[in-house]
Amino acid sequence: MCEYDYQGWHANPYIGREFHGVWGDFDVKINIDKKYTLAASGVLQNADKIGRGYADVKRAKSHKGKIEWHFKAENVHDFMWGADKDYVVDSKVFHDGTKVYFAYIPGPKTTDNWKLLPDILDNALEYINANYGKYPYPVYSFIQGGDGGMEYPMATLITGERNIGSLVGVSVHEWMHSWYQMILGTNESLYSWMDEGFTSWASAATMNHLRARQLIPGDFVPNPHIRSVEGFVRFANTGNDQPLSIHSDHFKTNRAYGVAAYTKGAVCLSQLQYIMGKDVFESALLRYFETWKFKHPNPNDFFRIMELESGLELDWFKEYFVYTRDMADYAVGEVTEQDGKTRIDLMKLEQMPMPLDVTVTFEDGATKLFHIPITLMRGEKKFAKQSVEVLKDWAWTHPIYTMEVDKAVKGVQIDASNMMMDRNRENNVWKK
Ligand SMILES: [Zn+2]
Repeated sequence: MCEYDYQGWHANPYIGREFHGVWGDFDVKINIDKKYTLAASGVLQNADKIGRGYADVKRAKSHKGKIEWHFKAENVHDFMWGADKDYVVDSKVFHDGTKVYFAYIPGPKTTDNWKLLPDILDNALEYINANYGKYPYPVYSFIQGGDGGMEYPMATLITGERNIGSLVGVSVHEWMHSWYQMILGTNESLYSWMDEGFTSWASAATMNHLRARQLIPGDFVPNPHIRSVEGFVRFANTGNDQPLSIHSDHFKTNRAYGVAAYTKGAVCLSQLQYIMGKDVFESALLRYFETWKFKHPNPNDFFRIMELESGLELDWFKEYFVYTRDMADYAVGEVTEQDGKTRIDLMKLEQMPMPLDVTVTFEDGATKLFHIPITLMRGEKKFAKQSVEVLKDWAWTHPIYTMEVDKAVKGVQIDASNMMMDRNRENNVWKK
């Protein structure tokens, strides 16, 4: 089924990449050899007849003939099922009442790790519900199968023979698609970055949370999003990247598609967090979910919510980020001292404008943070606790901006957070 909307029909031929569907209620009956155990999108309606982990009843003695499996999945845009003679089904009612199923083939490479999944993912869901919006469906199923990880409404197919970090990683990523594709039903053929990218961003934060709780191996890091910013800049510097506005099926290379959809999409959220400030950005992301859940948001809808929540004008960011390959490159230029005062020239070397956080270290060892908004924003980011001095706007047409401080300076750094997508970070630092 394909979607009809203000752009007409979205009858994309399916080439094994992204798709865009309509919402509906699925009522599915599958008659299949009794030897098979099923797992699927939706709620099993005849669990009392099926048993096998779905309900506490004795398994039918006879394995001959067929049995009917009846699933209902409401308000979804796809339905998936998997079947195997060897599936076992575990389940757990998570903290918020969501019933979660785990269908896998027991063995030395699966059982131990799959038994760990329910508690870890319950913890993950608590974090996800609080930060990205509440999971609205009654069930979800993690099903062993497929060729890596593939997302569906209320279920995912994942390959199962993985170490625990990888198994949790794929589970969190595919489940996260429930938020950015199944619930916020973006046309991912046109805007795959709003699904894969946002999913990747939220997955990185959730995995970092699980590491902080020591539920999976690896170290908690202060900022789990820097890697995607660095990875994107590295690829963009090869010249092989393409704009986000390209249709998913029409990128020149798989790599260009992957970096645009997964990496640059994640970088989009990092940039907005950098531009708006962490707290405002986080409430904006929740507002986006609440406003657009079970609808089909497009980039305008998304950026409009970011504007409403931050009070900032963000058209310029959308236009550069989505429709061009432009990137920011800022540098510290001349630093001149006279009569105890210091003039610092900052240089805008590329087309894309960005507001700047500038950290200045004085001769006496003290450090101060300055913020330079750009005129196009008609406002500036909200800083959490740090004290910061907001300077006059940088008119985006001007390649040089001069700031003055009333002390001798020994160091200047643009964007100490490493969050801003900056073509060349080496010119961000000046030392006496
Ligand atoms: Zn994905």
